[in-house]
Amino acid sequence: MYVKGVGPKRAQLLKSELGIASVYDLLYHFPTGYVDRSRTYSIREFVGDMPYVQVRGRFLTFNVLGEGAKQRLAGLFTDGTGSIEVVWFRSINRLKSAYIPHKEYILYGKPTEFNGHWSMTHPEVDPAGAANIPKGLCPVYPLTQKLRQRNITSRTLKGITDTVFATLPPIEDIMPTQLLAKHCLMPLGEALRAIHNPTSPADLDRARLRLKYDELFYLQLNLRRLARNRSMALGGIRFPKVGTFFNRFYNELLPFPLTGAQKRVIKEIHADMQSGRQMNRLLQGDVGSGKTLVGAMCLLLALGNDCQGALMAPTEILAGQHYETLNGHLAPLGVNVKLLTGSTPQKERKIIHQQLLDGSLHIIVGTHALLEDPVQFKRLGLAVIDEQHRFGVAQRARLWTKNAELPPHVLVMTATPIPRTLAMTVYGDLDVSVIDELPPGRKPIKTVLRNEQERFTVLRGIGTQLREGRQVYIVYPLIEDNEKLALQSLEEGYKDICDAFPHYQVAYVHGRMKPKEKDFQMQRFASGEARILVATTVIEVGVNVPNATTMMIENAERFGLSQLHQLRGRVGRGADQSYCILMAPQKLSKTTRQRLVLMTQTCDGFKIAEEDMRMRGPGDIEGTQQSGLPIDLKIANLATDGRIIQAARDDAEKILDTDPDLSTPTGQKLLHNLQILSNRTPLDWSRIS
Ligand code: ADP
Ligand code: MG
Repeated sequence: MYVKGVGPKRAQLLKSELGIASVYDLLYHFPTGYVDRSRTYSIREFVGDMPYVQVRGRFLTFNVLGEGAKQRLAGLFTDGTGSIEVVWFRSINRLKSAYIPHKEYILYGKPTEFNGHWSMTHPEVDPAGAANIPKGLCPVYPLTQKLRQRNITSRTLKGITDTVFATLPPIEDIMPTQLLAKHCLMPLGEALRAIHNPTSPADLDRARLRLKYDELFYLQLNLRRLARNRSMALGGIRFPKVGTFFNRFYNELLPFPLTGAQKRVIKEIHADMQSGRQMNRLLQGDVGSGKTLVGAMCLLLALGNDCQGALMAPTEILAGQHYETLNGHLAPLGVNVKLLTGSTPQKERKIIHQQLLDGSLHIIVGTHALLEDPVQFKRLGLAVIDEQHRFGVAQRARLWTKNAELPPHVLVMTATPIPRTLAMTVYGDLDVSVIDELPPGRKPIKTVLRNEQERFTVLRGIGTQLREGRQVYIVYPLIEDNEKLALQSLEEGYKDICDAFPHYQVAYVHGRMKPKEKDFQMQRFASGEARILVATTVIEVGVNVPNATTMMIENAERFGLSQLHQLRGRVGRGADQSYCILMAPQKLSKTTRQRLVLMTQTCDGFKIAEEDMRMRGPGDIEGTQQSGLPIDLKIANLATDGRIIQAARDDAEKILDTDPDLSTPTGQKLLHNLQILSNRTPLDWSRIS
């Protein structure tokens, strides 16, 4: 299509610089912002950091200043309330004769101040009263330096889109009309028009909503379609029964009533296991929300259906703890549970391998060792994976090979709280369950922010806890690009603590230690022999020492919020009041202080994750890189558009319920659009965490 104002040269530039090669691309090259040109500023009003503004006035004089590359044209411009210098570095000769002194012009640009004098560089200049001066809300487009140098501005692009809209046939809107009605969505053509040329802020809001909805709808349609196809293709072991193991445990052995959330999640999981499709479910729950118990009860469901179960943890310590817990819970039922880690002796290993094959071993708990080649099961029904982010994609995929026939169901448990709507998207087709309730009677951890001047008082408080028989964590940040420095501060901190508390034993752990040494030190702390643990973030994952009531985190400003929350979850595991002390310099940037203050105000991991994401953007949260999505999001934002994501997902799900292959006339159109939008090869989301 030929568009007025776009010759071959410009077309080439738009393509190479912005990837705009068609009218479609152009319409979907959305503005990043808008400026309000309904207002004209007086120069007298200029103060502080000014936005782009328009002023109305006259040039008094023009002067060419400087030599060679520094040559510039300076015009003195006044509107009667003050004056500014207008500067051009390019097209000096042409502009000097184009602009006429004492004639009235409208300038549009960004005023900057130097030594009390205001200036504006390369503004847009129009004769006052000219018909083509932009009015109202004007789009600002993402541009490149090269385009600006060629005089292609936001205004140029707006001119081109205006021309296109004037000649374009009506844009077909294939979104089912009942969805448009349900969410009061603008027709597509109107939304595209309004995003480039809004008549009012409300008009713009509606356009944005429609376009965001479209992106998220197609994204969810894509993900859910893949999910359905995959689980259809794979099939899964059916667990029709609840079984006596589960029932006896529930009725006779459960040490406390389940929380409502635990019950709900177990039901969700059991429904998956009865469906005949392989389950891939992510179980999110804040630290201490009781995920292990849920995992254990699901393993009993597997046992009740003549299957075996596996529970994998990322470290030996954690695997050991899980083994103790499970064995304690399940031994009375006659369940055979064993532990397999890197340090299991060869003889024991052989027995385990044999028992897994002949089926006499019911539940195996372990580390990566479980994924080793000789480990084969008679009939593995469920694999529970704790703290998923330490397990790589490839490792998880190896689980699939552990069974002769159907693949096991997989339950991934994580305490990294990711807002649910984000999880629904970045974990693609993993189904998501959430435990959003802590067991009753937990006292919220008291969190405070302290600086160096207050260290003495902080140490005194820690001393009180120690005298009462409690244990204490002291955590140092890992400095990624300077490990040496990190280790040094950890070592100094260790010495200081030993000096401050000479009557107590202090254990000491960091990431560079050999696993044996690390385990030894952790054991000293876990057993209560050492009352203080000085550590880098290695304690982050899962350690359970209920007697530890206090955590001091050094240089808390260096941690991400979600990470702080994870760390803090190591205390507050017993009945006593627990404390978390965030140490940070007195001088902090405003946002850093805000982040730390938030930690002192809430213990809700999801709230923290949501805030963290709002402040930092979703890309920074572990495992949530937005870039891997099968559809580019140009306008929707995973961090802030949670409600739209939810609606879009529900709608996509409903459409697939009635038209799973997208073969109805509407379905075919949706599918066609989906294929245009998903410009990458689809990834296998089922095996990505
Ligand atoms: P996480 O979700 O962090 O893995 P855990 O499974 O380690 O949490 O549980 C934390 C503690 O809460 C454990 O000591 C566990 O026994 C206890 N717990 C789990 N569920 C309940 C419940 N419904 N009522 C009371 N305590 C519970
Ligand atoms: Mg846990």
